[in-house]
Amino acid sequence: MENSLAFARQLDQEDPLRAFRDRFYLPQRNGEPLIYFCGNSLGLQPKTVQQALEHELTIWQQHGVEGWFEGENPWYSIHRRCKEPLAQILGALPAEVCPMNNLTVNLHLLLTSFYRPQGQKTKILTIGGDFPSDQYALESHLKSRGLNPDEQFIELFPRSGEPTWRTEDLLNAIEHYRDSLALVLMSGLHYYTGQVFDMATINQKAHEVGVMVGFDLAHAVGNVPLALHDWGVDFAFWCSYKYLNSGPGGVAGIFIHEKHHAAGLPRLAGWWGYDEARRFEMTKGFVPMPGADGWQVSTPTILAMAVHEAALEITAEAGMPALRRKSEQLTGFLEFVLRDSGYPLTILTPAERGCQLSLLVPKNGKAVFNQLTEKGIIGDWREPDCIRLAPAPLYNTFEEVWRVGQVFLSA
Ligand SMILES: *Cc1c(COP(=O)(O)O)cnc(C)c1O
Repeated sequence: MENSLAFARQLDQEDPLRAFRDRFYLPQRNGEPLIYFCGNSLGLQPKTVQQALEHELTIWQQHGVEGWFEGENPWYSIHRRCKEPLAQILGALPAEVCPMNNLTVNLHLLLTSFYRPQGQKTKILTIGGDFPSDQYALESHLKSRGLNPDEQFIELFPRSGEPTWRTEDLLNAIEHYRDSLALVLMSGLHYYTGQVFDMATINQKAHEVGVMVGFDLAHAVGNVPLALHDWGVDFAFWCSYKYLNSGPGGVAGIFIHEKHHAAGLPRLAGWWGYDEARRFEMTKGFVPMPGADGWQVSTPTILAMAVHEAALEITAEAGMPALRRKSEQLTGFLEFVLRDSGYPLTILTPAERGCQLSLLVPKNGKAVFNQLTEKGIIGDWREPDCIRLAPAPLYNTFEEVWRVGQVFLSA
């Protein structure tokens, strides 16, 4: 690798995904596109979204309630159109995934089904300092079952002096608590450090000791390759406004492994999870849709679903293998230019990672972050000393990465 503009431009020319950038609106300042390295927080708007939205608005204008059943793509089955691309992106069967609600709401629904404390097996194992919303959800479920979170909630932190987790420590913890664990529930990719966990191995170990596993894929979906079905993960959930570019607060989704579909798991039901052929018979007694669809509760937000569908098409068309290849190159190049700049910083993110690099900049961190912002580079600042930069393979370029390196070189 070479820390030069010419080298960066050559990588861009050779990039098989380079045409995808033009499918997104790049935020601008004074008429110049910003360097947007914040897709880990809110992905950019695909140009196709507006038309997809306007299409549904027109149907509503012209057909009113008939939009549910009339026309080429009636609203009634809109969720189904997202299943193929979701299944492809998550490594799942279409019946195992369903777009619905928002992330934390889905976590609550899934905990009702999959957190089944029994006898001695009551504890939930998670990673320390995981995303707060997940922690609040877990805490509230423990309390709702009359259990004390201080006793039941096991948070595993990295070894002292180490920023990230070792897989062996996670496996040993599962073994250690084997007789008291009911559930392992954790992020698949940690939002702060950018570490991607060995989900297949963690899952295998938990199953070996008879414990269910669920992953929060907020930062993993559309970012790293996933094979939820083959790994045998019990359940998973995600949001779509990060790497899936489905807009602020966009439709989230769930995965429920096929092996649980016929098990009659307890769930919080609503009419949208009811067998769709008989939903409007409005009869008493809940009869679920087969598969993940049976976890739906409410009428879907059609406008958000239309945006989601349009955005998913792009990720599915690029395909996870190609996105992954470019992502590894982009992040590798970012690491290279940062190190080459000689600026005193620590890269927290290990080699097991997705798009994001988390940089610890203990002195002048905020000043450097402000310089980046002044130069039109949008990253993300976490107090007291962390800058997160996430070049996304769908719309970021090697030249942009090189420009970020230049800021550190002159800082
Ligand atoms: C982004 C994110 C969330 C957000 O949850 P919402 O319900 O969409 O607000 C939750 N968990 C993790 C790990 C996240 O990264």
